[in-house]
Amino acid sequence: MCGVLGAYSGKDYVAEEIYLGLSALQHRGQESAGVAWINGDRRINVIKGMGLVHEALDQGRLANVKAKAAIGHVRYSTAGGSHEQNAQPICANYAQGPVAIAHNGNLTNFKILREELESRGAIFQSTSDTEAILQLLAHQPKRTPLDALRRALAGVTGAYSLVVLMEEGLVAARDPWGFRPLSIGRRGDNYYVASESCAFNLLGATFVRDIEPGEVLLINERGLSSYKIPIETSRKCLCSFEYVYLARPDSVIEGRSVYRARQEMGRRLARGEGGERCVLTDGVADADFVASMPDSGTTAALGYAEESRLPYEAAVVRNRYVGRTFIQPTQRVRELGVRIKLSPSPDLFRDRSAILVDDSIVRGTTAGLVVSMIRECKTRGIHLRISSPPVRYPCFYGIDTPSKGDLVAARCTIKEIAESVGADSLFYLSREDMVKSIGIPDNRLCTACFDGNYLEETDESESRRMVKRIFEQV
Ligand code: AMP
Ligand code: SF4
Repeated sequence: MCGVLGAYSGKDYVAEEIYLGLSALQHRGQESAGVAWINGDRRINVIKGMGLVHEALDQGRLANVKAKAAIGHVRYSTAGGSHEQNAQPICANYAQGPVAIAHNGNLTNFKILREELESRGAIFQSTSDTEAILQLLAHQPKRTPLDALRRALAGVTGAYSLVVLMEEGLVAARDPWGFRPLSIGRRGDNYYVASESCAFNLLGATFVRDIEPGEVLLINERGLSSYKIPIETSRKCLCSFEYVYLARPDSVIEGRSVYRARQEMGRRLARGEGGERCVLTDGVADADFVASMPDSGTTAALGYAEESRLPYEAAVVRNRYVGRTFIQPTQRVRELGVRIKLSPSPDLFRDRSAILVDDSIVRGTTAGLVVSMIRECKTRGIHLRISSPPVRYPCFYGIDTPSKGDLVAARCTIKEIAESVGADSLFYLSREDMVKSIGIPDNRLCTACFDGNYLEETDESESRRMVKRIFEQV
């Protein structure tokens, strides 16, 4: 997960804008937040801390910071633990000056990178894979920072959307497969780079374009300069789960509105063609209304209601004052978390039959608990509809899905899942319908957590060769 944001302006005020923009990216990470900037005396400055943006950062202090360029990060740990030393941006001073970096994604060859760097004397201060990119820069002391970054990224595999501050300016880079989104916005002479375009709406900026997969973009007083990461790739892999769950519905990724994609997933789910399914007790045809697991299932539920001509009712209420349940470390706390967060309205469910829409089932905790709470309301029927295919494989590219053994759809048949969550029927959206709803060609999307079709791994010796090439002729 994680959200990154960068701002460049001819004037001296962008640090506070990072604070504001990070609030719009808060859904991408709630563990820690940070802002870094470089000021006139070439010193790098950073404020970071644990918790939500307003807990981790002091807005008043940032409002007084004079900086023409700044970057920020909200973190949800997927690689490296949830500790303060893993909070980002990560900053350093090396032979070519100060540098700060913030990263969304997971590097798949981190182990090899770390071994190769340590064998050359590198000392790692955190367990986060992002530090490897910084170390790769430091090991090319004679190259300009931008050149060193481009070469470093040619030795890295996996997912990264990066914002980097260096003396040359603000740099944004996206891995050649394009796993995680990253786009540019503009307000007058100010440029912004953000994980999601919803941050531009808050900053009064307009969306310019996505950073291309494999692009390194430099923003400074000369404007925008685009470079390529010198690496060839056979396919693109934009994360389909961004459209299913992760991104905010008011964001547009690669030209497709996340809201519209989710709405279409709901419509196709209502048509009920092709997805995996199981009916334990009949009565789907008698459903009185459509409800959702708020907020994750709501947009798809609206599409479902429209297509099925049933009313949508906000029958499950979300407590706005508690955070996400998924990040709770133990199963017991996670279960209590769901009860605190989601409450069905007894009046709406009593003696009625409902279609309940959610975006995904991962461990099965949320669906099981909410269905059992709805049963306590003496419902007539509860039909669970999931606006994505079963999640059967873990993600190695920056989404916190658990190991295969914890994924309920990897262990159980659809019938067993329906029985264990207590639903009268359970329908999933088909992979084909999910891809069509997203509206981006199949060969540009990653769907690995649904179908196990991972990007072909670079074998270890080739990966080591790629890393060693970075150090040649340094
Ligand atoms: P579970 O209870 O484990 O089945 O979790 C499913 C719920 O968590 C769904 O309502 C999703 O909206 C949400 N969810 C799915 N994937 C993630 C993720 N990687 N991080 C946080 N929440 C998630
Ligand atoms: Fe996204 Fe799933 Fe691919 Fe991970 S495996 S990048 S969550 S589609």
